[in-house]
Amino acid sequence: MKKGYNSTRSKDINVSASQGILQGLAPDGGLFVPNFINQIQFDPQKLIGKSYGEMANVIFSAFLNDFTEQQISDAIKGAYYSGKFEDQEPVALKKVNDRYFLELFHGPTCAFKDMALTILPYLMVESMKNVNNQKKIMILTATSGDTGKAALEGFADVANISIIVFYPKDGVSTIQEKQMLTQTGANTCVVGVDGNFDDTQNGVKIILNDSHMAAKLAASNVIFSSANSINIGRLLPQVVYYFYSYYDLLKRGEIQPDEQINFVVPTGNFGNILAGYYAARLGLPINKLICASNANKVLTDFFETGQYNRNRDFYKTSSPSMDILISSNLERLLYDLSDCDSDSVKTLMEQLKNDGTYQVSKTLMEKTQLFYAGTADETETSQAIKSVFDQSSYLMDPHTAVANKVYDDYRKETGDSTKTVIVSTASPYKFARSVYESIFGACDANDYALLSLLAEKTGTTVPLPLKDLDKKDNHHQSQCDKTDMSKAVLDFLNHQEHAND
Ligand SMILES: *Cc1c(COP(=O)(O)O)cnc(C)c1O
Repeated sequence: MKKGYNSTRSKDINVSASQGILQGLAPDGGLFVPNFINQIQFDPQKLIGKSYGEMANVIFSAFLNDFTEQQISDAIKGAYYSGKFEDQEPVALKKVNDRYFLELFHGPTCAFKDMALTILPYLMVESMKNVNNQKKIMILTATSGDTGKAALEGFADVANISIIVFYPKDGVSTIQEKQMLTQTGANTCVVGVDGNFDDTQNGVKIILNDSHMAAKLAASNVIFSSANSINIGRLLPQVVYYFYSYYDLLKRGEIQPDEQINFVVPTGNFGNILAGYYAARLGLPINKLICASNANKVLTDFFETGQYNRNRDFYKTSSPSMDILISSNLERLLYDLSDCDSDSVKTLMEQLKNDGTYQVSKTLMEKTQLFYAGTADETETSQAIKSVFDQSSYLMDPHTAVANKVYDDYRKETGDSTKTVIVSTASPYKFARSVYESIFGACDANDYALLSLLAEKTGTTVPLPLKDLDKKDNHHQSQCDKTDMSKAVLDFLNHQEHAND
């Protein structure tokens, strides 16, 4: 088989890395997966002491089969070493008592989505060159809060690409909304939808499959693409920090060569933890990947029973980026564990679409031993934030707190004392109200005042991107009904055409 990316639902679809990045989703609805993972071999000796950028270079070079070295190193430099991140290295690994927190939130929007969405625009621009695409791209995104801002920030002012983000008008936090509305860049558009996140995501899917829309775009020489977490251009950058944190621990003498470690990952769409799984497949010594869910514990139930069932109540929680009942990237794990049996994956995904549920075989479940799954409810999440702060003066956001609580349960249940990294996905300031009130009790200050209050009371500092957010001007004000989203896209298209005249 030709070295490239196949669809999880059909081996007949085989594309280059660039084509996969531009298309996002395979034409049969499947997700792109590399068919050459087994051929990749890293020499561990050569990974020791590498910077984040050097590590990214090794990993991207292995996966981006039609990119040049120059394209890869320019993308890494532009994303991670041009002042978008707070510190010299984009991620930080902090030891707190018996565990390590891998902080992935020091980028421009204070959530881990920045790790991939700062580099995706570079990868897309180079992909267009690699496939000799003369068209313009419009990125269409539905967001429950974090992805929207990270994508806007990444694509703002990128030539030949425009981006429109839809968010549920009353479904995101004050800070998340303000972050999006203050976005600058003539190629950006933000629209609040009168509906919930499912309506919004559904609206986007309808537009992507609408042939009338595609024809209208084609007349303007524009094609749609997506920046959501199923794009391989978002998955690959996430593999890097698993390697980087392992070798950082080795360099610091916290672990011995070949010693196994655990990762705990606060999980929603299963993208982040899947990148950890790929790291393990590439030979990184991982003992357990611990999948942490909030009250929407569809994945915990799946790993316990082998049944995936989305027919259940949906809870709005303090960790909203994990309020998800369909974890899209799980499809890639099923594909890999079933030895690339695309027919069976296709059947399971049809069952999910039609019945909202599927059951995988015993044989497949026996191969999920690398995973452990657990859940934290709202009270437990809040208690975790408070107790870690009281004991160690370390502030966790609610998503990270879910992971921390699930790890406590795991240790109690298994007695496993393997060194463990908690993947820390958002700045506590992004969810300041939940964090503040968990520690200090209810507070009637507004959400902006709460940022400074949290800083004062905890002796930490408000991250720059969130500071003075309330003083920034809004640049977007569009709202639409959930049935009018395609009109918003056409208005934006029109506006872009005239802007380019
Ligand atoms: C997106 C997100 C998650 C979930 O990550 P997945 O890759 O969707 O599993 C967890 N925490 C935060 C803060 C996020 O923004």
